[in-house]
Amino acid sequence: MSTHASAAYMHASAAVCEAVLRLRGPALWEELGRIASDLMQAPHGKFIPSDLTPGGLPPVHSGPVESAAGGLMQDVVRDSQYFGSFHVCGRGSFEEHEKQQFSSLATLTASLLQIHSVAQRSTHAFVQVEAQLAHQTQILDHLHESVVTMDLNGYITSWNKGAERLFGYSAIEAVGRHILFLYEDEDTAFRDNFAEYGGRMMEVRRRKKNGEVFWASLSLSQLCDLEERPIGMIAYLTDITERKQAEERLHHLAYYDALTGLPNRTLLTKLVDQGLSVTLRNQSIAGVLFIDLNRFKVINDTLGRSVGDELLKEVARRFRAVLREQDVVARLTGDEFAVGLFDLGQHFEATTVAQKLQASLIDPILVDGHVLRVGASIGISVFPQDGTDAESLLRQADIAMARAKADAENPDDSVAYYSQDMNQTMLERMRLEHGLRHALGHGELLLHYQPKYAVDTGRIIGAEALVRWRHAERGLVPPAEFIPLAESTGLVVQVGEWVLETACAQAAAWQRAGLRPFRLAVNVSAREFTSMLPGRVKNTLERYELDPAWLELEITESTLMHNIERVITIMDRLTAMGVALSLDDFGTGYSSLSYLKRFPIHTLKIDRSFTTGIPNDSNDCAIASTIINMGRQLKHRVIAEGVETQEQLNFLRESGCDEVQGYLLSRPLDARAFEKLLRENQDADQADGVYV
Ligand code: C2E
Ligand code: MG
Ligand code: MG
Repeated sequence: MSTHASAAYMHASAAVCEAVLRLRGPALWEELGRIASDLMQAPHGKFIPSDLTPGGLPPVHSGPVESAAGGLMQDVVRDSQYFGSFHVCGRGSFEEHEKQQFSSLATLTASLLQIHSVAQRSTHAFVQVEAQLAHQTQILDHLHESVVTMDLNGYITSWNKGAERLFGYSAIEAVGRHILFLYEDEDTAFRDNFAEYGGRMMEVRRRKKNGEVFWASLSLSQLCDLEERPIGMIAYLTDITERKQAEERLHHLAYYDALTGLPNRTLLTKLVDQGLSVTLRNQSIAGVLFIDLNRFKVINDTLGRSVGDELLKEVARRFRAVLREQDVVARLTGDEFAVGLFDLGQHFEATTVAQKLQASLIDPILVDGHVLRVGASIGISVFPQDGTDAESLLRQADIAMARAKADAENPDDSVAYYSQDMNQTMLERMRLEHGLRHALGHGELLLHYQPKYAVDTGRIIGAEALVRWRHAERGLVPPAEFIPLAESTGLVVQVGEWVLETACAQAAAWQRAGLRPFRLAVNVSAREFTSMLPGRVKNTLERYELDPAWLELEITESTLMHNIERVITIMDRLTAMGVALSLDDFGTGYSSLSYLKRFPIHTLKIDRSFTTGIPNDSNDCAIASTIINMGRQLKHRVIAEGVETQEQLNFLRESGCDEVQGYLLSRPLDARAFEKLLRENQDADQADGVYV
């Protein structure tokens, strides 16, 4: 090939490359024809592509073919793929090296066209895949459902528009985070069994970006690679809050009374049956109260239904307000209500609740300017004695209610038990309670004073105030017969106030009379031991101008059991005032030593039951001496109560007990007798002491 010829070929091949890259269709063919005519220095040149080749596919020639008219034709072929043919004409014959160049040009063109077509085909495929993906994403994004994929460890790998709408997080915020961040509370069980949930449909609670928690239906299925190996999970979530709410509304319609919003009879039955099984498990007792309103029908008939409805709503509200959270109250029909009480200690606790319900109706109810007064008659049945299921207990309570209504002078405070025995005890208790209220208001209570002696000197160093009830018919009633009742009804608080008042008044009188100061102890029950107590004590001491050194409070061990920190705070406030504290009936409770040393106690009082066994019962002796030693260790004084014999006193003295109290030395005395004894004791003491 001459230099000129080779330069022309280089030029032509560069031009072919550029043409194939840049041009398409007829423009390409035209350019290829032009390049061929340039190279071959022929006036005419063209490229006829395969699809325009007339008469289908021609017989393919590898080398150039001369035509009769002096033209030259060269097929463009590679790997038996035919792309078309070059044609040049219009000049004289062609030299051999020119024919070779023509053929080379065809070979180059063929390979360029082939590469280009492959590239074009794969570009086309890529574009197709991309379009398909975009299409799918579009479908996913248009789904109302949210679709979330995650890897096997629960990290989110994709997040569609539905998920963005549902949760409020954008894909950028969500992808890469752990799926648990959407949970209402992180359910560790799910975390552990993550992979086992595949294919399951469930209703779950999830949390949105704005914090709102909602109900969603969740279906999980496995995501696999081409070889069917699991690579993650796909989760479809739909918000089902509305359906859930509709279900709840239906549930509400089926189980609640539309007027008052209280449970209806159906739900009451279910709840009571559930409550009974808990009660049975705890081996406690339960009560069902059947409540019938008095005078409701008259109001309803004369003032109309809408007034009646408002009245019932208010009654329901008042009932709910006096009950504890765990008590069930339901409206049965019309003016009938029922209450379920579970886990009661004793059956008469139900009476207290019944009375509270009745008391809640004492204030008149105002409806549309009408001042309405209703009351309630209440029947009570007790589980397990009267029945073992809700239906039978309700039936018995209903019967008891009818009896309460019929028998009563005042049906508004009438309560009856189904069982005659329980009724009897209830009536006695009610009578007693009534009597005690009367006693408080009519000066029927009085105090006796029992001296406390120092073991070493025989001096009276204190006294305990003990309450008595001077009953018109029964004479002097001991506290054991009314204090427990007063404790269960709460009346003990008023009794306690009276005792503190009276004891302080008496001590102040003795202080003024010039008696040597001693400690006057007042018993305080657990129900009085509240944060109100220190203020009340302070106020009483101030009113009587009584030195706090005169006062001591006896607290039983059970008081300490409740809320230790609270109890200690109250005790600290009392001792800061200068009032002494002693632990009564010590040894009968369960105070642990570790707690005991935290209480600011001055004196431990050995319970009478241990003193009684001294000196014959070795256990009692051991307990008494242990308490004495313990008191010494903790720097508390120790007193033994109920000392009745000289032997007991001797034992206690030898064991190192500080103080004694009991019939051997003195019974509880009225104020006058006590004062006389005290003066004698103080005189004797001055004349250098005698001791029993
Ligand atoms: P307590 O505080 O342990 O009082 C001691 C009880 O034992 C008193 O009975 C007392 O009379 C009695 N006693 C004293 N020495 C002897 C004795 O040698 N032998 C026998 N057999 N008994 C003796 P009382 O007065 O009947 O009081 C009984 C319980 O009633 C008291 O036990 C106390 O828990 C409670 N109590 C008494 N007065 C009040 C009070 O004003 N308020 C409160 N909350 N409870 C009181
Ligand atoms: Mg006492
Ligand atoms: Mg005692």
